[in-house]
Amino acid sequence: MRATEPAVTELMTERGHEQVVFVADAPSGLRAVIAVHSTALGPSLGGVRFWRYASEREALVDALRLSEAMSLKAAAAGLHQGGGKAVVLCDDPDAPRDEPLLRAMGRAIDELGGRYIAAEDVGATPRDMQIIASQTPWVTGIEGHGGSGDPSPVTAYGVVCATQAVLEELDDDPSLVGKRVVVDGVGHVGSHLARLLADAGARVAVADVNRDRVDTLVREVGADALAVEAALEEPCDVLAPCALGAALSEATIPRLQCRAVCGAANNQLADAAADDKLAARGILYAPDFVVNAGGIINLAEEFVGYDRERALKRTAQIGETVRRVFALARESGVPPGHAAEEMARRRIADEGAGRRWVPGDPAAWTNGAPLRTLRPA
Ligand code: NAD
Repeated sequence: MRATEPAVTELMTERGHEQVVFVADAPSGLRAVIAVHSTALGPSLGGVRFWRYASEREALVDALRLSEAMSLKAAAAGLHQGGGKAVVLCDDPDAPRDEPLLRAMGRAIDELGGRYIAAEDVGATPRDMQIIASQTPWVTGIEGHGGSGDPSPVTAYGVVCATQAVLEELDDDPSLVGKRVVVDGVGHVGSHLARLLADAGARVAVADVNRDRVDTLVREVGADALAVEAALEEPCDVLAPCALGAALSEATIPRLQCRAVCGAANNQLADAAADDKLAARGILYAPDFVVNAGGIINLAEEFVGYDRERALKRTAQIGETVRRVFALARESGVPPGHAAEEMARRRIADEGAGRRWVPGDPAAWTNGAPLRTLRPA
């Protein structure tokens, strides 16, 4: 007999989720799940993902997993913000979406009154987000209207600050001059990262399945071009995974020739054991969700009136957070990934102390004013 799958509320209880909203709009065909993991530190924020799922169950599990990861990322970054995520079930995530469907999604987000604040994620286009934002003020990262636009340059800057902290841990010297860094994946974040590293004097090597992107960086900053298959095995000081997730696995970790891993990609560890395996090989791992927090730090700045300089200043603190993670890892005798997660969970438990943010509440960023008044209409 087939074992019964756990109930939705059981899954929520297991990981501490506050709320899951199932959204259906028959006229437009919208089917979506919005998961709010935690609002203990403030309103939840996370991307809207448009994706083809084999089943509604798979979409739900993805929303639960991703929203929890957002809570940890916001908490580790010191933000007064919780974690949420929305997933929209699509037959073809690459096909342009009808406006009625996007408007229905905007209305569903609006009904949560700010408990879930949306941003762009996999499959979403700037046009999608603009249409969603026509129905609700609870959208970040859009161009104009006080939005912060493309977060990639700020994310890349955060990775540089993290890399300096990594080098300090390795060599007691944060300087990038003469250090060899392999950037694996040079899309939005990776290309900015390669430029910033080269400007700081690092010897940069790049790899990407898109050869044009590699050639541009070879031309512009004198980067070495690497074949995609060779990037992980290239001897270097720091490997910066900036492509897809799960780059660090049982299969790849034994082949690495780097001293440290510090990059922007989400979910770099293929499984929980990967953190231990890296430590066992003497490779210093800077936890991905700490390193790549520049993107959400940038979004959080919108609520106090976006200012790029202030966003960069706050993002620079990622370096300090990485140092604290390494110190905690040493003290507790655990690998850095475990230490970062522990640090984030402790902050949610201590500072959040069982609180839930409800519409009309101030957020820490609003200096006591209700959140909505600080968003453009
Ligand atoms: P992107 O799609 O612009 O870039 C990804 C790049 O990786 C592309 O150039 C693609 O061709 C390349 N690529 C795909 N498969 C590859 C492979 N097997 N080997 C080498 N290259 C490969 O995405 P992005 O916005 O630059 O984000 C990169 C990573 O950083 C993602 O994991 C994303 O979730 C994460 N991230 C991005 C931000 C941000 O601000 N954009 C913030 C936090 C985390």
